[in-house]
Amino acid sequence: MAPAPSGGHDHQGCIDRALSRAEKLCGERGVRFTPLRRQVLALIWENHEAVKAYDLLELLKPFDPSAKPATVYRALDFLLEQGFIHRVESLNAFIGCSDVGRRHEILLLICDRCHTVEERAASSVMAAVAAEIASAGFRVRYKALEIHGICTVCAAREDSV
Ligand SMILES: [Zn+2]
Ligand SMILES: [Zn+2]
Ligand SMILES: [Zn+2]
Repeated sequence: MAPAPSGGHDHQGCIDRALSRAEKLCGERGVRFTPLRRQVLALIWENHEAVKAYDLLELLKPFDPSAKPATVYRALDFLLEQGFIHRVESLNAFIGCSDVGRRHEILLLICDRCHTVEERAASSVMAAVAAEIASAGFRVRYKALEIHGICTVCAAREDSV
């Protein structure tokens, strides 16, 4: 995982926003935003690429040499539970949620070149999917649409070669 720039936007703004919103929500919910949980969230937000648990463990070690896989998984469970991050099932990895604070359906656009994942709300699409699922009488455990392809940055890079 390279500390890549993310599509020419103010990414520090993304990081600051994500951390301060998480901090605020933890306060409102009365749950503890421990330094470790904060650190793991910050590492996930280092860029918009999906990151795997074992990569997080390596990234965490400089901050916490005693970190173990269970340390990372417990922190990830907390962050998932609070809705601060999403699991990307098809990559077995995680991304920061760009719309924390409410339960929402997600459409993930996953770039197969740079592994950047863009989250879209797609509420009308998801409503149609929900209606279809309901008519099938199916009980949903987890719902996310994951679409693989090439992002605009990688596509532009390809065109310029
Ligand atoms: Zn960003
Ligand atoms: Zn989200
Ligand atoms: Zn890309």
